Amino acid sequence: MKILSLNAGSSSMKFQLYEMPEEKVLIAGVFERIGLNNSFYSIKYNNNKIKKEIQFKNHEEAVSIFLKELIDLKIIDSLEDIKGIGHRIVHGGDKYCDSVIINEEVIQDVEKFSTLAPLHNPVNLLGINIIKKILPDSKNVAVFDTAFHQTMDKESFIYSVPYEWYKEYGVRRYGFHGTSHKYLSERICEILGRKDLKVITCHLGGGASITAIKDGKCIETSMGFTPLSGITMGTRSGDIDPSIIEYIMQKTGKSIKEVMNDLNKKSGVLGISGISSDDREIEEGIKNNDERCILARKIFVRRIAAFISQYNTFLNGADIIIFSAGIGENSEGVRKEVMNSLSSLGIIIDDEKNKSRGVETVITSSDSKISCYIIPTDEELMIAKETYELIER
Ligand code: ADP
Repeated sequence: MKILSLNAGSSSMKFQLYEMPEEKVLIAGVFERIGLNNSFYSIKYNNNKIKKEIQFKNHEEAVSIFLKELIDLKIIDSLEDIKGIGHRIVHGGDKYCDSVIINEEVIQDVEKFSTLAPLHNPVNLLGINIIKKILPDSKNVAVFDTAFHQTMDKESFIYSVPYEWYKEYGVRRYGFHGTSHKYLSERICEILGRKDLKVITCHLGGGASITAIKDGKCIETSMGFTPLSGITMGTRSGDIDPSIIEYIMQKTGKSIKEVMNDLNKKSGVLGISGISSDDREIEEGIKNNDERCILARKIFVRRIAAFISQYNTFLNGADIIIFSAGIGENSEGVRKEVMNSLSSLGIIIDDEKNKSRGVETVITSSDSKISCYIIPTDEELMIAKETYELIER
């Protein structure tokens, strides 16, 4: 059965078509700079790669071009071959703790939760509407970034603010990257053939979050009401004292919007280093003894280690720590520094194995009290799996 996984962003769209349940990727397409000049798309299939620079005005044109490519490249005979489409939806509020088949009610909810994710939900919804227009008989599934975190207890998700903010306005910790954390949790269970695991998953990409998982259920996560909180990220500040916002507004005359933009786009590793949000450039800076790159790395590592220590306590001793996403899968240096700073937890690194990149590997020695793994994340596959399971039911 052919299942399409779709991730619609504000100026990009990512598609991946799978043969399920074999989990075989038939084709992957990325459309970038939608609605801007110099738009282009790249497609990978059967070891082939195509890149075309053509103008597509909007998301609908991108979808149409991709579907036409599927037929032109003979990946499918007709659009009816696509039996289900899984849509990545950023915010499911506190209503959705699982993926669901999309109906009118789900569509209205995605729209309603746009107030909580104004940059993401509207464009996710646009993806659904385009597919429903082009493939009116298709079965569509919503896979929410927040769903996996819905198992947190109140003591984990309620902030220490007036309770009415939660009751009246939905102010609470939601958590994000849920599809990735869930994938990693399921994958380690498959690898070890066990379900009763206490796992800390570290999704360290441009955005980054850490989650504590017990018996496959999330009990804590570092992102909060929005994806701005938690650990230091590429350009996002992570947790700060909220009083800084008012203070900087007074000092600089910036508006709340401008300060929030600084916290989202000019902070984190970029803000500290003044050079880049990209870990590879920070690594270069460290080699050249750049003081602020060294500091950015130290702060990044320290925040990760602090969350892991805290979660280790909540889990009453973790069995496994997983490193994933761009930095987690590739940066030997970040992993090494995090593990070394956690030696008091009995973590013993295997330096040779820690040199691995982007492949599933244990990177601690056999006498390490907690086993650390690299596991490449696969959110697209997770979306396809959940879609397939719901459609097959
Ligand atoms: P996102 O999807 O959140 O943009 P990714 O998971 O693709 O993020 O991760 C992007 C980040 O991963 C980059 O900013 C870069 O810092 C880091 N990264 C990617 N490749 C490498 C590498 N080979 N070595 C170190 N860091 C890397």
